[in-house]
Amino acid sequence: MDRLHYHLPTEVFAGPGCVREKASAWCLGRKALIVTGAMSAQRSGALEDVRVALMTQNVPYAHFDGVGENPDVEQVYAGVAVAEQEGADFIVAVGGGSPMDAAKSIAWVVGAKIPRARFFTDKPQRDDCVLPIIAVPLTCGTGSEVTPYSIITNHEIRSKANISGPGFFPRVALLDARYLESLPKHVLCDTALDALSHAIEGVYSPKCDALAEAMGLEAIRILVPEMVRLAHDNFVNLAEVQYASMLAGMVIAQTGTGLVHAMGYPLTYYRHLPHGRANGILLAGYLDFMNAPCPQLTERILGAMAFKDSCDLQGLVDTLLDVAGCDRAAPSEEELVQFMREPLRLEVVRRYRAMPSPEEVMDIYRTGF
Ligand code: NAP
Ligand code: FE
Repeated sequence: MDRLHYHLPTEVFAGPGCVREKASAWCLGRKALIVTGAMSAQRSGALEDVRVALMTQNVPYAHFDGVGENPDVEQVYAGVAVAEQEGADFIVAVGGGSPMDAAKSIAWVVGAKIPRARFFTDKPQRDDCVLPIIAVPLTCGTGSEVTPYSIITNHEIRSKANISGPGFFPRVALLDARYLESLPKHVLCDTALDALSHAIEGVYSPKCDALAEAMGLEAIRILVPEMVRLAHDNFVNLAEVQYASMLAGMVIAQTGTGLVHAMGYPLTYYRHLPHGRANGILLAGYLDFMNAPCPQLTERILGAMAFKDSCDLQGLVDTLLDVAGCDRAAPSEEELVQFMREPLRLEVVRRYRAMPSPEEVMDIYRTGF
């Protein structure tokens, strides 16, 4: 067997009712800070389950509901203020990627006492005392419940920064697919596209080994038929999508993401496209680009999708974006030049299997719109 490395310190429980049933396994401190967005935690029913679980364990809690989409550092420090004022010693993140990622940064800033001015320059260290994080995902895309990444908008670079560290893996992830029933359809489309891009970028990553590839291809095999059903308004098995999203998260926890995410961040920053949608738009062009250096991997990815070529993938993405009501006005040449600069600057893109030229990056953007 070739070289292999797999690290996942997150204990995963999945199934209906797991938040209440497993309360004794995840109440990891004396006082919890529950971190959520404005509405999803209530709407999904997850917040009530978390509260009941904490009460049954006699653990008091405070609630910070100030996380918006694509959270920035101000939201992180607003949460830090509540955590410190309340004396919370563990964090329960209940939400999509935005609340889960903000919660990770809050846990680090509180634990390692990181001043605001050093937030984007300090790197989380192995011995930083990051507060324990429990993750209850309410979307099915980011896989943040099983990754060591916290993606925070950095207005200074007009993009997103990936803060990551060993303590950012949640200690426990609790997956109950009933919470996905309240997801608006467009968020379901967007987040499924995010999960698919994690799986595809993970398989193409130079860090992908046999285990990560097996998990990535399995995630693709599960996701694509569910996404086809979603595109045609048929019944979608949310538990399957949630499982595949977690698998894809386990893959990028080992491999990291790549060109698609790097190119998606400017689309989110400048075009305000939701994260998964921004990735989805780029997927077919990315597959074409990667086909030259990695034809066998492309064949295996297409095989897992049961697609003949990247046009089939583009067709699925197009239908999902229509369902999500996506505005796809083509970017101007000036915008393309602006978008292209950020990904080419990133180390992760330079270390990839094939370093794209500025023209190739712009072509991938053009293919998507
Ligand atoms: P999100 O930004 O967390 O949520 C999107 C919207 O959906 C929000 O309005 C949210 O409402 C709503 N929503 C979420 N769950 C819902 C539910 N069950 N019922 C009803 N409404 C619900 O979306 P996301 O795509 O999961 O997260 C995107 C973020 O994750 C981006 O910042 C991205 O960069 C990051 N990301 C992180 C990783 C990682 O490994 N850490 C990987 C990929 C992406 P509320 O505002 O009320 O919550
Ligand atoms: Fe993502």
